[in-house]
Amino acid sequence: MNKELFKSLFKEKKLRLSHPRLLIYQELSRAEIPLSPQELYQRLLKRQRKIGLTSIYRSLDLFESLGMVFKIINGSSVKYKLCEVKDHHHHIVCKACGDVVELNFCDISDWSKKVTESTGYQVIDHQFNFYGFCKACKPLQKPQSAEH
Ligand SMILES: [Zn+2]
Ligand SMILES: [Zn+2]
Ligand SMILES: [Zn+2]
Repeated sequence: MNKELFKSLFKEKKLRLSHPRLLIYQELSRAEIPLSPQELYQRLLKRQRKIGLTSIYRSLDLFESLGMVFKIINGSSVKYKLCEVKDHHHHIVCKACGDVVELNFCDISDWSKKVTESTGYQVIDHQFNFYGFCKACKPLQKPQSAEH
């Protein structure tokens, strides 16, 4: 998302956009790949911006709760990618290189209906990710063994 959208979301929620938060946003927006809090810390340090890890963690938590970043958990590693859009969407993550693509469509109405039918719940929200191999990594994957 561009800076205007980022700023307007803060304004909308009446949250203060501190300088460290803006710097973290800028670093995420420059990065072509998802970054871990430690990587963000190192990159900021290289630009002579010393922002404590705790405050990086807090800002990323906030960004995530506002739907501004996508959090990718892979085993013990946690990385963040800035979202392009603010509206509801999903992501597909490459299992090999960690690349993330946003999916700007979502049609789970049949699925929601099934959930309601089987539980009686009214579905108001959902979250899930897709995983696979990107175009570059797909040829490198060994075919799945049939016996597996
Ligand atoms: Zn996203
Ligand atoms: Zn890949
Ligand atoms: Zn959805």
